[in-house]
Formats: sequence, C-alpha cells, structure tokens
Amino acid sequence: MDSNQIRKTFLDFFRSKGHVIVPSAPMVVKNDPTLMFTNAGMNQFKDLFLGNSPIKDRRVADSQKCLRVSGKHNDLEEVGHDTYHHTMFEMLGNWSFGDYFKKEAISWAWELLTDVYGLPKERLYATIFEGSPDENIDRDNEAYQYWKQFLPEDHIILGNRHDNFWEMGDTGPCGPCSEIHYDLRSDEERAALDGRELVNRGHHLVIEIWNLVFMQFNRKASGELELLPARHVDTGMGFERLCMVLQGKQSNYDTDVFQPTIRRLAELSGKVYGQDRRADIAMRVVADHLRAIAFSIADGQLPSNVKAGYVIRRILRRAVRYGYTYLGFNEPFICQLVDGLVRQMGEQFPELAAQQDLITKVIAEEEAAFLRTLATGINLLDNVIKKEQAAGSRVISGSEAFLLYDTYGFPIDLTELIAQENGMTVNGEEFSAELQKQKERSRNAAAVDTDDWVELFPIAESRFIGYDTLESDVRISRYRRV
Ligand code: ATP
Ligand code: MG
Ligand code: MG
Ligand code: MG
Repeated sequence: MDSNQIRKTFLDFFRSKGHVIVPSAPMVVKNDPTLMFTNAGMNQFKDLFLGNSPIKDRRVADSQKCLRVSGKHNDLEEVGHDTYHHTMFEMLGNWSFGDYFKKEAISWAWELLTDVYGLPKERLYATIFEGSPDENIDRDNEAYQYWKQFLPEDHIILGNRHDNFWEMGDTGPCGPCSEIHYDLRSDEERAALDGRELVNRGHHLVIEIWNLVFMQFNRKASGELELLPARHVDTGMGFERLCMVLQGKQSNYDTDVFQPTIRRLAELSGKVYGQDRRADIAMRVVADHLRAIAFSIADGQLPSNVKAGYVIRRILRRAVRYGYTYLGFNEPFICQLVDGLVRQMGEQFPELAAQQDLITKVIAEEEAAFLRTLATGINLLDNVIKKEQAAGSRVISGSEAFLLYDTYGFPIDLTELIAQENGMTVNGEEFSAELQKQKERSRNAAAVDTDDWVELFPIAESRFIGYDTLESDVRISRYRRV
C-alpha cells in the first residue's frame, strides 16, 4: 500500500463506522493565545470537550497536520537524529463526542490494524493506565478487559501517569489513555529480548503508533477529579509511523512519504543516502523541515522575526545549515524540493498546490539570505581563528562567538563545529554570560507568550548545562530551568 492508500483506508474505515470525515484544521493557529501551532488532532475540537460549543457530529475522523516544535511538545532536537519524530507530521484520528467509549475505540483500533491493514498480532502491544492511589484513580481495568479479548496478558503493559494519563491543562477534561506499540525488530532479535521490556524503556524499533485517550474526568480548579457527564474518545495515530510499519521499513524516511525528497536531495548533492551518518542525518533533517516550512507558508505563515514566523525561520535555517555543512550546498536547494512535495501531497492538501509559487519563492529568498550570512560569518570566524592561533591560543572567546551570533546571526553551534575542526574550543560560559547580559538589556522589550518557543526558558531562571551538538537554539538546548 502506498501512503495515499494508507490514509484513505483509515478514513474509509471510520466512515464505515459512522464517522463524519472532516478536513484538517490549519497547522498555524491564529486565534489561541496558548498555542502557536496545531500539535494534536484534538486541538480543533477543544471547545467541544470543554462544552463551549455545541456538538454537531458525535463521530468524527480526519488526518490533521501537526507541528511539534514549541511548547509542551517540542521534538525538534530529535528530528533527523532519530527516524520517527518529525516536526510536521500527520495525525490520523477518530473521535467520539459523548458517543461510543472504550469498547468500540479499542475493538475498532484492533480491527483496523490487524484485519484491514493485516498487521501481525504478535508484534503489537497495548499499554494501559496503572492507576494513581494518591489521587484515588483506579487502574484502567475497563481498557484492560477489552484488550484482553485480543492480546495475551504479557502484551498488555501498565503505564504511569506520564505516559498513560492525559490532561488538557491544569483544569478541564482528562482521563486515562491506552497506547499501541509495534515491534519492528527481526524474529531473532525478538526471540532474544522480549519486546515488552522495550515498550516502556524505549527503543527505536519498538515504537508507539497510536494513542487512544478516554476522557472520563473533569479536573476542577481545586485539583479534585469528578466524573464527566458525557465521556469522549480522542485518538491520534502517527501517519508516517503507520506507513513505516505497513511498508515493512525500519525508518519513516524509508517510506514513500520521504523517499522522493531524499532521492532528489541525493541527486542535487551527489551524495548517496545510507553511506555517511552525518549526511544521512542532514538529508533527514532537510526532508522533514521542507514539509514544516512549506505547510506553514501554505497556511499563510511566512518566516519572520517574531513568534510563529520566527519559529518557521529557524526551522528553515536549521535545514539550510545541515545542507550547507554536511551536504555541500552553498546555493539555495530547499526551494528545488517544493515541486516534488506538491506532486506528492498536493491532492490531499490542496492549499499546498495552490500556494506552490509563493512557497518556492519565499524559501528561495530565505535560503539565499541565510547562505550569505553563513558565508560572511565563516570569513569572520576564519580571521578570529587565525588571530587566536597566531597568539598561541586554542580558545575562541565568548565575546567573539557572541559578536558573530548577535551581530551576524551566525549560529553558535556552527562556530563550535568550525572551532572543533580547527582543533579549538569556544568559551561557552563566557558566551552564555554575554547572552544573559543581552537578554537583560532587552528584557523590557520581550513579549511573554506561554507557548512561545523563544520565551520558553527565561534566561534568568536558567542554568547553563553544557552544549548539545547541532542545535542553534542556545536557550533551549543549553539551559534548563532551575
Ligand atoms: P512519542 O512518545 O513517540 O514522542 P507521543 O506520546 O508524544 O509520541 P502523542 O501525543 O500520543 O505522541 O501523539 C499521538 C501519536 O502521534 C503518537 O502515537 C505517534 O504515533 C505520533 N507522533 C507523536 N509525535 C510525533 C512526531 N514528532 N512525529 C511523528 N509522529 C508523532
Ligand atoms: Mg512525544
Ligand atoms: Mg509517548
Ligand atoms: Mg502518546
């Protein structure tokens, strides 16, 4: 099955179970102060769960464009380094608004995965909420009973609050969830080590594909839980992960969702995917980020210097940087991938086809500008390195690195990388001190947005914890709240 058929099969299945198929909401959120981007299928239905708007259809299904690069869900640092977290991805979902509950949600999920898609049962696992005695919430025995009709007991795993209890916020609807995991390992590997062990521990070949959330409680402002008058189901399945599983691959990037882009990238760069670890990461990053950027622009969010626009600009620059550093691109290249993406996804997402010219043009301009920045920065950095080396030093001072970062927009991790290639280091403590000084200078101008990527960890409350590689957001990758 190709990916378009996989998506269609999901929607057809739930249509056959009485669901109304609705279009994806925009990925860029314009009217919610707590959220910049849609990060789950349920976002567009928030008001239904909260009882703020009337329920028209009690059974709904869709494929929702999601972006997880800010706020509660930020997967950016994983992207490209692992093979199953994306910035932009499609979340397939089915909902019951006060209609069916656990029994149907579980048995339909099972029916779809095993009967319709034909997945082997012995590779599937389900997790259920283990309960929370402190809060007087029982183990989710109801879900356990339903799973037991399909799975042997040792494929049903108890999960904790963090993974198996979902809350919309500090107050409001919440409830236990049940996740479905799939073991992609070979028969030998599975015989050697039980997949059960790996579900909770985490393994790149034993991955979560579907989350079924059962909203049955309301959390009151006092923190107390009460039963909801109407119970709801909210599910989300990672479309790209499902494609990987169904196409017998071990990486989302080996599916037909990403392969056309990766092949084009290989053509343009003259590199072969699968031969060099760093080039592979770079190709995955570019193939992933292309989608995030193109879909944002299609939704009307252009790269800019503030809020959502800044997040998009930074994603684009991250892709350029990987392409520049590991794939040898020094001319705009991401813009050349847009027509392939539109050919592939334009039918399901007409906004993409409609905006193709704008998307291509905006990306080309952004790329060209950032490549110039990179070239300038690299020249300046060369001079700094020569100067330090002539003086017998092997360290680039924090103020020099900061000048490059602040005045020329040159990413600190690229400074580190180039320093490293020249047998030198960067004084990180000094750099962070400079950064903090600058933060204080501009504190008054800083807007606070609860889910704004830029303001997530206010510097004053953060502590320098050292460097991550290949990440340009110093505030996120190098600091933790104290
Ligand atoms: P994970 O534990 O793998 O990060 P999650 O528990 O954060 O996933 P949910 O919020 O439960 O994910 O979202 C529902 C489904 O969406 C997941 O089961 C998974 O298949 C998919 N998904 C979540 N995050 C991503 C991502 N960054 N890229 C691709 N698919 C994702
Ligand atoms: Mg996650
Ligand atoms: Mg999870
Ligand atoms: Mg989950």
